[in-house]
Amino acid sequence: MADDTRFYEIEPSLENYWRAVILFGKNVASYKFALAKALYDLRKGPSELVRLDELAPLFADHLIAHLKQCDKQITSRSSAFLDVCRKYSNGEISRDRLIQETARHGFNNVIDAFHNVHGNELDKRFFLDERKTSGGIRLTEDFYRLAEAQSFDDLNVETEARWRLVETAWELRLPRHVVRIAYDDNDQILHTLTSQNRRVNITSSRNALNGYQKGRCFYCYRNISLDMFSDDLADVDHFFPHKLNFCAKGKPIDGVANLVLACKECNRGADGKFDRLPSIDLLARLNRRNEYLIKSHHPLRETLMLQTGITETDRRSYLQSAYTCAESHLIMKWAPKPCGNATF
Ligand SMILES: [Zn+2]
Repeated sequence: MADDTRFYEIEPSLENYWRAVILFGKNVASYKFALAKALYDLRKGPSELVRLDELAPLFADHLIAHLKQCDKQITSRSSAFLDVCRKYSNGEISRDRLIQETARHGFNNVIDAFHNVHGNELDKRFFLDERKTSGGIRLTEDFYRLAEAQSFDDLNVETEARWRLVETAWELRLPRHVVRIAYDDNDQILHTLTSQNRRVNITSSRNALNGYQKGRCFYCYRNISLDMFSDDLADVDHFFPHKLNFCAKGKPIDGVANLVLACKECNRGADGKFDRLPSIDLLARLNRRNEYLIKSHHPLRETLMLQTGITETDRRSYLQSAYTCAESHLIMKWAPKPCGNATF
């Protein structure tokens, strides 16, 4: 299994193909996220064929909403299409004109590129490009199957979190090697600092991390949820517990590299982990999970490299040395009871 395709090939579910589209690959604009969110809006739509003028208002509205909180939505200096969105926001053009221009110019690359991940065309399709024959895209059976899945709401939340990470990184306009995403235990929010040292909240850490664990508990693989009202709502857990802070000089105690999502049973149930050290096989899993974050370009990749090492070998030995340090201070180890297949 090639490294680049392992994420969806190890468990080739529709959810994981969708996640591959959203989480991986280099983005030069946020259009893929806007299209994903427009598709989400269409999940209960009346027809499989969606004409571009029907898709355009949904697509443009998501972009306009994001432009309001973050003006940088593309890596190139300017975009005539985004200028149209801005003009609409400022009341300079009509809604009809916005839709017309979006249908004409908004989809130029994104429809072609949507199913391309790491340079590979996915063998699953959520829509077919029928612009030439029918003036739109045709949603596939796989799309509707995905839309019926319980996790579809979570996929939408994951898309939003990924979008926030990418646009924030672009807007910082910092050299890549200094972009750092930090975590705050009080509000469980991922944030960063601008060059003026101003804190910018980006997204809930839960929403940002869930996709890389495929919606499963890191420890036991039970399904977890991002729904605040669900009994299965994920807990954010530190793999290396807090009480190791004293030995943590240079160790990944507070960084994203140490954050995992866990079910309540594993985190604080009768046989829960609490501040014990996870068994050594889980360290390899943490490394694999972190490598998924690394493959998710800008800004998690840069953050993880800064915190744990530039090469895969560096990162593995970094975690190993943190583990060795932890072992010398913590006698108690903990292992979860598996509740599902190993899917990441
Ligand atoms: Zn669990």
